[in-house]
Order: sequence, then C-alpha cells, then structure tokens
Amino acid sequence: MIARFLKRSIALSLLVPVAAFAIEAVPLGDEFVEIKNVDPSILIDLRYSTPNNVTHRPLYPPGTPALVRASVAERLVRVQKYLQKKKCGLKIWDAYRPASAQHQLWQATQNGSYVADPKGARGSMHLRGVAVDVTLVDEAGRDLPMPTEFDNFTPAALINYHGNDPMVRSNLNLLQKAMAHGGFYGLRTEWWHFCAPDWKRYPQVPELKTVTERNIPAL
Ligand SMILES: [Zn+2]
Repeated sequence: MIARFLKRSIALSLLVPVAAFAIEAVPLGDEFVEIKNVDPSILIDLRYSTPNNVTHRPLYPPGTPALVRASVAERLVRVQKYLQKKKCGLKIWDAYRPASAQHQLWQATQNGSYVADPKGARGSMHLRGVAVDVTLVDEAGRDLPMPTEFDNFTPAALINYHGNDPMVRSNLNLLQKAMAHGGFYGLRTEWWHFCAPDWKRYPQVPELKTVTERNIPAL
C-alpha cells in the first residue's frame, strides 16, 4: 500500500511541475497544473484568449495558461502517448475556464445544449478543471480534418458523425478512441468536448489566484 502510494507520489512529482496556480492545500491530483509543463508535445491554442471564437472577442487575457487538475493532466499524457504511436497529437482549444468567461459565453450563446448555464445545477465542467476541448493534429502540428470548426453549435458537431467524408470519420474515431484510452467521457452535442469521469470530486473554482514565487513549494 505504502509502496503503491510512494510510486504514485514519485510518478506525480515527475509529472507535475512547480504549479503556478493553486487553490489552498488540496489532495494529491487535485491541484491545477499547466498542460504545456506536464507534456510540452501537446499543442495549446486557447481560442477564448483570441477573437477567434463564437463571441468574436477574447474572453481571457492573452497569454492565459491552459490549466487542468493534475489528475486530468495525467489522463491527457496517456492520450498523447496513444496518439503519438499513430503519428498524431492533441491540440487544446480550452481547458479551465473562469466563471467570468463562462458568463460571457452564456450571454453570447444562450443555448443550454452547447454551453452550460452558469446558474445551472452542475455548471460547466470547465470551471472544475476536469474538461478539455480538443482536436487532432498531425506530427507537424497541422490541424487534421474534423467534422466542424470549434464552437460550431449545430447538429454537425454531434459526437456521432453523420457526414460522408471517410477521412473525417477516421480522424474523429481516432480522437474518441484516444480520449477513451485516457478514461475521458465525450459529450453528445460537441465532438471536441471531453470530461474526466470523476468530475464530482472536483468543485467549481470561479477564479484561480496566482500564487507568488515564494509560496510555490519546492519539489
Ligand atoms: Zn468544452
């Protein structure tokens, strides 16, 4: 038991870099980490830090890091390794989303099929740090053809592809297999959205506070 715990601790200490963000003292795996620090081969393109999203304006400041719970980052590493064997990789379109961004997104869309109402019972999985919006890239980091663009809130974005492009079908199939390999669940209405199955463990965090240098624990 102790050996198992130690093994996990060592694995996590290797995996998890010095966290730039934290929410007080939290159990192992619950802290927030930057995806690019955990696996630099995962590409990051946070659409809500640019005008290139459904609202046509940035919802986060430029340079906002892509953050998830450490346990979710571990899952993403498993997914990335799976994809690398197929000469592909992940690109992250969104990860942890602060409440202010969720509110703006809801105001812009007002469509509960695609965006979680901030006043809803469960809220957004992005506020818990357990959801990611992702797509596939090839070895050179180029986007692979997928059913739709990000934030295409139409039936074309359903998790079950109904188009007839075999390349798109095969890419979506690979993404879904890879994410399932990491233990993620998909969402019926958005092919790009995936969530960790143990999301209930993680409360919503309206805003993450940056911790100062001197508060960062040494590993
Ligand atoms: Zn999402």
